[in-house]
Amino acid sequence: MEVKVYKSTLTLVEGDITNEETDAIVNAANTRLAGGAGVDGAIHRAGGPSIMEECRKIGGCPTGQAVITTGGNLKAKYVIHTVGPVYQGGNKGEAQLLQSAHLESLKLASARNLKSIAFPAISTGVYGYPVNEAAQIALKTAIDYLREHSDIELVRFVLFGRKTYDIFADELKKLMP
Ligand code: ADP
Repeated sequence: MEVKVYKSTLTLVEGDITNEETDAIVNAANTRLAGGAGVDGAIHRAGGPSIMEECRKIGGCPTGQAVITTGGNLKAKYVIHTVGPVYQGGNKGEAQLLQSAHLESLKLASARNLKSIAFPAISTGVYGYPVNEAAQIALKTAIDYLREHSDIELVRFVLFGRKTYDIFADELKKLMP
């Protein structure tokens, strides 16, 4: 699915984010930038050890913030590592932190003059965020950003599996009828 947001494009695809050729891909990292399961493990496996070396030098990243490394062996030139919240029922500031994780990633891409960025469904795996709620926050944050910042030409959400893709597509239809 693809929509135009002012001068930019927002797309949803089903797939594996490690294959993306966008300027940056976003990693759903943890605060220690220690690597782990899910998309984080997949990115480090595909990108090779240089990404982890850079992460070690950076040291860590608070929840809702973002840091950047090069892309190692990936096709993407950079990896933006952001930390989404662990879902604890929804009343612990999770929505604001998830919005911030997306916003800080987009700001970092703009600051580096990047034109395209791909996001996974941050926090919806091990961190337990309900996919429909996470999709609404992720998409709204990207849409609002692109309305104000046309320097980023493409935001792509790369969803792992049909189910997650379908939920994102439903939420995008609600936001961009
Ligand atoms: P978190 O800890 O933020 O919940 P996870 O990696 O556990 O992060 O899950 C986030 C989302 O990333 C989930 O929807 C999961 O299915 C998805 N995912 C896992 N591997 C990949 C991949 N290679 N490409 C894109 N998305 C992936």
